[in-house]
Amino acid sequence: MHASAAPPVGRLEVITGPMFSGKSEELMRRVRRARIAGVNALVISHSLDTRAELSAVTSHIGVNIPAIPVGNVSDLAAAAAAEDFDLIAIDEAQFFGPDLVPVVDDLLATGATVIVEGLCVTFDGAPFEPLPTFMALAEDVTKLTAVCTICGRDAVFHERIAAQPTGAATDIDASHVGGLDTYVARCREHFGQPAATSPGADGS
Ligand code: ADP
Ligand code: MG
Repeated sequence: MHASAAPPVGRLEVITGPMFSGKSEELMRRVRRARIAGVNALVISHSLDTRAELSAVTSHIGVNIPAIPVGNVSDLAAAAAAEDFDLIAIDEAQFFGPDLVPVVDDLLATGATVIVEGLCVTFDGAPFEPLPTFMALAEDVTKLTAVCTICGRDAVFHERIAAQPTGAATDIDASHVGGLDTYVARCREHFGQPAATSPGADGS
């Protein structure tokens, strides 16, 4: 990293949107670029994300980069304190819940850049903390959309096509992990119409 006389000042970047919007791809792109620039970057994943090998951030098309899997915010803080990291990138940040906010504040106070990446919306269409809070506090917010698989418009939602879990949509559990067999991306018009294969969503 380039030497600088200025005191270190933290920077918070948010990458958010619904499932399939390319959040993990964007996180990986930024980490790769930073490493080319000589930045010491740590990538954190959540151990609830069981889609791929635990020690990687993986996109829906299978691209991945190595990551440290942790199960709670204190393990995250410990992993971040293990070295003098310039950049800490957190995948699937919604899994850490609101307790992540003060931990990220502490990381920013060290002068690090923190990328918080995760879902800002639950599968039933409600805001999903802590991403909305991070969006309010960040230097930079990238809000991505997926592609509605009914009409091709921008999708700001995703919804389950598999059986609903028993808990609330904001529960921090593995019900938020899934792929194309479990979730679909939906625009505002088609959200609430999970049966894409049914004959005519309007009943015709
Ligand atoms: P996220 O982390 O936001 O869930 P990923 O970065 O893992 O998303 O994957 C994004 C990729 O998923 C896209 O580049 C595309 O190849 C694929 N994909 C599959 N279904 C969709 C969809 N409905 N809309 C957009 N991308 C999709
Ligand atoms: Mg992802």
